[in-house]
Amino acid sequence: MITAVKDIFGKTPEGQDVERFTIDSGNGVRVRLITLGATLTSLTLTGGDGVPVETTTGYDTVAAYLAGKAYFGATIGRFGNRIAAGRFTLDGKAYTLACNEAGQHHLHGGMRGFNAVLWSASPFSAGDAAGVRFRYVSADGEEGYPGTLTVQVTYTLTVANEWRIDYEATTAAPTVVNLTNHAYWNLAGVGAGTILDHELTLAADHYLPVDATLIPTGERRAVAGTPMDFTRPQRIGARIAQVPGGYDHCYVLRGAPGTLRPAALLVEPHSGRRMVVETTEPGIQLYTGNFLDGGKGAGGKRFVKHGALCLETQHFPDAPNRPEFASTVLRPGATYRQSTVHRFGT
Ligand code: BGC
Repeated sequence: MITAVKDIFGKTPEGQDVERFTIDSGNGVRVRLITLGATLTSLTLTGGDGVPVETTTGYDTVAAYLAGKAYFGATIGRFGNRIAAGRFTLDGKAYTLACNEAGQHHLHGGMRGFNAVLWSASPFSAGDAAGVRFRYVSADGEEGYPGTLTVQVTYTLTVANEWRIDYEATTAAPTVVNLTNHAYWNLAGVGAGTILDHELTLAADHYLPVDATLIPTGERRAVAGTPMDFTRPQRIGARIAQVPGGYDHCYVLRGAPGTLRPAALLVEPHSGRRMVVETTEPGIQLYTGNFLDGGKGAGGKRFVKHGALCLETQHFPDAPNRPEFASTVLRPGATYRQSTVHRFGT
C-alpha cells in the first residue's frame, strides 16, 4: 500500500498555502508534486547502492518557481509550445494572445500560464498505486483564450515504478487546448554535468522543421540520414553541434494518436538508469536545455546549458494556425484527454 503524504511547500505572495505531496513507490522511485502549477518538483531514483539520485530540476521556494523562466516540472497550458505571433482564428473570430517569448510569439500559455497558478489537489491511494488529482478552472478570456476551461491533471505512481499523467479538460465555449508537462531530466543526477552522454531513442520517423524563431514551417521531414534521427539509440551529444541552437523540435510519433504507444527511451549509460515514455499524443518536443543559463535551483545545484532535457508530449506547435496539423480545438460537450506514462529502471 503506497500513499501520497501532504505537507506545506510554501506560500504564494497572496499568502495562500502551496501544498506538496510526496509519493514513494517503495521500489526506488519517489516523486514530489506541488499545487503551484501542478508541478513535479522532484523525482529521485534509488538503485542497488541505496543512494537517491535527483533526476529532475526544481527549486526550493515558491518565489523561485514564480521567478523562473524555464517551466521546471510544470503543467503547461492552456496551449503548450508556440502560437505564431500570438494570433489565431477560431470559427471566424480572431484572438490575440500575449507574445511572451521575446515579444515575437506566444509560448506555454502566456504571461501567467497554468504553470504559475494555484491548483486544488486531492490525493488518493489505490493499493499498489497512489497519486494526486489536480484541478484548475481557467476563466473565459484568461490569457486571451475563449471559454471557461475546467482542467484536471492526475499523477499516479505505482509500486512498479510507473509514473503516469492523465489530463482531462472540458470547455464552456470553443477554444484551443494543448497540455503537457515540462519536466527536465538528467538521469546521471541533476547538477552532475550535461545530458550529452545520454542515449535517446524516439519512435519518430519524421520531425517538424522550424524557422529561426522556432515556428514550424508546416513540413513533416524524414529524419533518416540527418542529425535529427533517433530511430535507433543515439548519444545526444554526437550530432548536437550540427543542429543550430541545439535540439528544440517536435517529433511526429509513429502510430495512431489517442492510443498509448511508445514515444521515447532515455538511457544514462554510465549508471544504466533509464526512462521509457509512452503517450497518446501525436508529438513529442525534444528540448535539450539550450537556454539553461547556469542559474541555481534546489539544493544550490546549477543548471548549465544542456544540463537537463525535456521530452514534452503534445500536439504540434502552432496547430491553431496549421489546418494540416491535428486539431487542438475543443468544443463544449467534448472532453480533451491525454495520457503519458514514464517507466523508470534503476
Ligand atoms: C521550448 C523551448 C523553451 C523552453 C522554455 C520548451 O518547451 O521548446 O524553446 O525555451 O520550453 O523553458
